[in-house]
Amino acid sequence: MSWDISDIKNWGPDKHEKGAVIPEAGNAVGYRTGGWRTNRPVRDDETCTQCLFCYFYCPDSSVIVEGQEVVDFDLDHCKGCAQCATECPVDAITMHPEAEFRRKS
Ligand code: SF4
Ligand code: SF4
Repeated sequence: MSWDISDIKNWGPDKHEKGAVIPEAGNAVGYRTGGWRTNRPVRDDETCTQCLFCYFYCPDSSVIVEGQEVVDFDLDHCKGCAQCATECPVDAITMHPEAEFRRKS
């Protein structure tokens, strides 16, 4: 998506492009902010002890938990900050360049 900002000096409370405002609380789910990511978290299920630290520390609520177990990452919203990998006490999460996955798909 690209924005026409040629008239940005005229922007104000009644005129600004979508994405440049936060019209209501909790609207981040409507934007695919995962597109900013340069590194993707990968979890090793064999090493993971299901302590849920990654779930609690993720600033983007992008660790998916089902039945009290981590099952995946929400890659539409994960920004690749690596907080989950940093906090994991058993190093079950590693970060990998996003470009590696684009080449595979
Ligand atoms: S890399 Fe960051 S945003 Fe993505 S799941 Fe881990 S803590 Fe959340
Ligand atoms: S922090 Fe590490 S060990 Fe704990 S649930 Fe997440 S991946 Fe598994």
